[in-house]
Amino acid sequence: MIKIVKFGGSSLASAEQFAKAGKIIHADKERRYVVPSAPGKRNARDTKVTDMLYACYELVEADEDFRIPLMKIKDRYDTIINGLNLRLSLEEEFKKISRNFKQKAGAGYAASRGEYLNGIVMANYLNYEFIDAAEVVFFDENGVFDEEQTNKVLAERLGKVERAVIPGFYGAGPDGTIHTFSRGGSDITGSIVARAVRASCYENWTDVSGVLIADPKIISDPQPIKTITYRELRELSYMGASVLHEDAIFPVRKAGIPINIRNTNAPEDEGTWIVESTCHSSKYTITGIAGKKGFVSVNIDKDMMNTEVGFGRKVLSAFEENGISFEHIPSGIDTMTVFVHQPEFEGKEQAVISAIHRLAEPDSIELEGDLALVAVVGRGMKSTRGTAGRIFSALAHANINVKMIDQGSSELNVIIGVSNADFENAIRAIYDIFVETQL
Ligand code: ASP
Repeated sequence: MIKIVKFGGSSLASAEQFAKAGKIIHADKERRYVVPSAPGKRNARDTKVTDMLYACYELVEADEDFRIPLMKIKDRYDTIINGLNLRLSLEEEFKKISRNFKQKAGAGYAASRGEYLNGIVMANYLNYEFIDAAEVVFFDENGVFDEEQTNKVLAERLGKVERAVIPGFYGAGPDGTIHTFSRGGSDITGSIVARAVRASCYENWTDVSGVLIADPKIISDPQPIKTITYRELRELSYMGASVLHEDAIFPVRKAGIPINIRNTNAPEDEGTWIVESTCHSSKYTITGIAGKKGFVSVNIDKDMMNTEVGFGRKVLSAFEENGISFEHIPSGIDTMTVFVHQPEFEGKEQAVISAIHRLAEPDSIELEGDLALVAVVGRGMKSTRGTAGRIFSALAHANINVKMIDQGSSELNVIIGVSNADFENAIRAIYDIFVETQL
């Protein structure tokens, strides 16, 4: 059995953190392939190496002196190397980077050096082989990830190597140009490696003990979720919960490989299992709560709307014409409401209103802004009676006016519209009724 272990930036921010990661890797022989991020923040005021590299490369592009910022980056690595007592020098690597910067190797190249160098340090520390991601992760001529080629080459290469470190976040195009995934993309590399070697598990080590039921900025010390399905996670991430890069789900999902989110600072915690499907019911009926502020509801009224074929299409064309995507469309007999993002909508509201009048000839249109959406997600809701009742009585007790309810057709979530001002209290009320009272 093979496990892939990916470590996030905060898990590798210092020599102490590296040592914790090393201990975790050595504790299980199956942890054969390691995917590191670049060193992250050591404290709240610190800067991630990736951000330092982007800033340094901005100087390169402006033809300004970049030597001191590059030295500061080298210092970050040297501090780790010295702290671990490694016999390793990155002198030559930094000379090469400096030369490539002068030749304007690109922002992708610059950013990728964070993972590249951390991979070299990690491989030296573990005594594992170092495999440059540029040799095994590929992008096409348009900079789009080439899944097929990557899977083939990675599988072949790793088939011959017992233990290796493969840096996250980047790969190379057909002409050797370095490309990166979007920010947080080392998660994707971990997932790609897991798929290529048909791993039994993709362990993603970070600084929290799993996916939390609710945002810790709103709920103090929320419980972690034990098991969550890919679909539930997608609903929660869409609504703002951030744990894992969204694109990291697809490669492992295809191969049916579970992801285990773990805490480098508390390795004894079981973390969260992200799986295709599970017979484990969640302890609290709901799996998680997430939400976002900043929506507008556009309420459109028209008598006998229900008998007019094509009414919905006409209304939606008005949004399409103005390049606005919608989030939800709850509808009644003579009303239809379209929820859109406020910042995107604000500049175009009058154009949209006149387009709806022109295309759909409604009786009236009313706008309400400063709304928030709260999603209560859980596979268990379908089979549990009274869930909706509990949600709404909790909100009523907290004196929160519910402006919209939408139960997704998947029966996996209930979405509730409240005013922005009630957002945090709504989440607290729902957390309390489902989790706090069950503890
Ligand atoms: N180092 C990259 C970033 O900061 C990628 C990652 O950490 O996953 O976005």
